[in-house]
Amino acid sequence: MKAVVFNGPGTLTLEDRARPEIGPDEILVRVQAAAICGTDLKIYRGGHFRVGEGDTRVLGHELAGDIVEIGGNVSYWRVGQRVSVVPNIGCGHCDMCRKGLNNMCPDYDAFGISIDGGFEEYMVVTPSAIFGGNLFEVPDSLDWEAAALVEPLSCCFNAWKNLSVSPEDRVLILGTGPIAGLFLMLAKAYGARQVIVVGRRATRLEEIAGLGATDTVDSSEVAVVDEVLRLTDGHGVDVALTAAPAPELQVQAMATLARYGRMNFFSGLNKGTKVEIDTNKVHYRGLKLLGSTGSSIEDYARSLRLVESGQIDVKAVITHRFGMDQAVSAFDHALAGKGMKTLILPQERNVA
Ligand SMILES: [Zn+2]
Ligand SMILES: [Zn+2]
Repeated sequence: MKAVVFNGPGTLTLEDRARPEIGPDEILVRVQAAAICGTDLKIYRGGHFRVGEGDTRVLGHELAGDIVEIGGNVSYWRVGQRVSVVPNIGCGHCDMCRKGLNNMCPDYDAFGISIDGGFEEYMVVTPSAIFGGNLFEVPDSLDWEAAALVEPLSCCFNAWKNLSVSPEDRVLILGTGPIAGLFLMLAKAYGARQVIVVGRRATRLEEIAGLGATDTVDSSEVAVVDEVLRLTDGHGVDVALTAAPAPELQVQAMATLARYGRMNFFSGLNKGTKVEIDTNKVHYRGLKLLGSTGSSIEDYARSLRLVESGQIDVKAVITHRFGMDQAVSAFDHALAGKGMKTLILPQERNVA
């Protein structure tokens, strides 16, 4: 089978590998769709502390496929079932895991990070993932691509659920990538009265406006903070989310928050990058500055319902699809910031 293998920073190769053998407590999934995430690109560029020097890893944690083989000790699951995974597998016994926060486990395993992920034709689902509740059955109404994109939505939902968005809120999204698109759809689903998107490329802003933004701000043309204040009649926004790894977006988000505003620093910055915070503003304005990373099994289950019920059309953020023979160029395409979400279809050789 073909696999996209990460061999250290800047090195990604398409390899021929034997189809994995599974143990008695494992499941083999034929991967049908796997999406490239910012995290994959970050690992491709700079590596990851969970991928040691000399290690190789198949990246990819946003995926869906069908079960083709089941270990003798595994019950409930069956061959032919359509499945997707929550990538972060908790240790099961730390304080965070005890609270159901598998995404916050300090001793986690994760598909595409510490164990092989979805950019390969066949992927092993480990016993820890099966018994940890990380494997989900995909509802019939979802196709492979939609099922693969429940994962990034679940990470957005994890941030979203603590922002208490209601219909009277004005929401600001900084960034024009797929995460920004998913936040925009969440804002629409939750009935936010105004959704402003900030970006620095007109074409991307146009694309995202099509998903239902009420206003767009081109940061290459106007001063972002002034423009957001103008668009909100001087009030500022109730909720802000940064969806691109740029420190200036965090500064702009904090500067545009209205009294009692809430925000989430969703996109992490490069290691060592720091941003100044005016804590007096936090104090006198009663701001809530939040962060989040990954998603819990509960976040995933709830996001799956949002997609299954048709309230969030996750596929609207897909702009490009590639087959396995094109997988490395798919990465370079995504790295160049072209389009929104890039998908790899491991069962296809080439996608025109
Ligand atoms: Zn991801
Ligand atoms: Zn744990």
